[in-house]
Amino acid sequence: MQEGRPLDFMRARLQALREAQLHRRLRPELGSSEPWLERDGRRLLNLSSNNYLGLATHPALKAAASQASERYGCGSGSSRLIAGSSDLHAELERRLAHFKGSESALLFNSGYVANVGVITALVGPGDLILSDALNHASIIDGCRLSRATCKVYPHNDSDTVARLLAEARSSGQYRTILVVTDSVFSMDGDIAPLGDLIALCRQYGALLLVDEAHATGCLGPGGRGLLAAVACDDEGVIAVGTLSKALGSFGAFVAGPALLTDYLVNVARPFIFTTALPPPVIAASLAALTLLEEQPVLVERLQANAAYLRRGLQALGFNTLTSSTHIVPVLVGDAGLALKMAARLQDYGVLAVAIRPPTVPAGMARIRASVMAVHERSDLDFALEAFERVGHELELLR
Ligand code: PMP
Repeated sequence: MQEGRPLDFMRARLQALREAQLHRRLRPELGSSEPWLERDGRRLLNLSSNNYLGLATHPALKAAASQASERYGCGSGSSRLIAGSSDLHAELERRLAHFKGSESALLFNSGYVANVGVITALVGPGDLILSDALNHASIIDGCRLSRATCKVYPHNDSDTVARLLAEARSSGQYRTILVVTDSVFSMDGDIAPLGDLIALCRQYGALLLVDEAHATGCLGPGGRGLLAAVACDDEGVIAVGTLSKALGSFGAFVAGPALLTDYLVNVARPFIFTTALPPPVIAASLAALTLLEEQPVLVERLQANAAYLRRGLQALGFNTLTSSTHIVPVLVGDAGLALKMAARLQDYGVLAVAIRPPTVPAGMARIRASVMAVHERSDLDFALEAFERVGHELELLR
């Protein structure tokens, strides 16, 4: 008979996390998607939101959601294939396809679900996935669930992708080969070599799946993502985008040929076996797309703010890794020190969270700062001042 209580394994695991400074807990925030939020009664500059354009609280999105809730109610009542597919869902899919310059688009209930759904629908046993070492957890989980062979290549290393593709094709061992990458990496803020990957996938007849979660609404012409910037219309190039970050709403989509979306509707279990997104959420996404089309200046403001913060941090002497986007990591190294830095930043009125293993590799703990288009220059100066003080206090700066 086993000694102890049934949940002792949980106590042990949580204790180990606490000892390694890796324990996490939830805390209530007020105005979590605003440029300034309130935590424990204190106003903090929010450098931790993916609401990059500030649209989550935009009056146009709120009005669209409340009108849709009046007209359609709050829930969609069933899955898309049963009776949950409203005219709003179809309209959003049409608009997203237009936005991405693809033939078709299909909604999924979140970016996480989209990645798992698409990868498991595209590949299975007997197939090969080549996955970037820094891909998002939802891609990793999709790869594992697919039961395809998965080879992880060093971050952004297209030479290794070329070698692995050549080896895989000459072995004749695999049916479908899928290369998968984030377009903007969520913890490093750098971007994938999409031009190289597209050319390689074309050469070796592989599919390319690009997760544009952090690029949608942020980068590329009119915020249409980085695939739009390389003007690729290959049938085998598939984009995932989220509606939950820059677009200020919720959900995600896959963009590609109509053949692909027809296939996913019939095969992707995370699409088939879940309730459709609620109509107010769909209406908010539609309003966000309209705003983005009408006000491309939002994207310019976001990237100007990003460049200002990034350059300011670098000028202070911080290591911002290879970030070139609105996600700006500040490398600290040790997980405990990163926690201390986040706590001190908070004391000075800045919310920028510590990112620790397993989200990033051991020894690469960091502060992750992300800017919003609606941050003022004075907000960013306030942040830089706090970083400078904390950097000196913790002897990260000389
Ligand atoms: N892909 C990437 C690169 C992400 O960073 C995230 C969210 N952090 C997701 C997918 C998941 O998106 P969602 O939050 O809509 O599930």
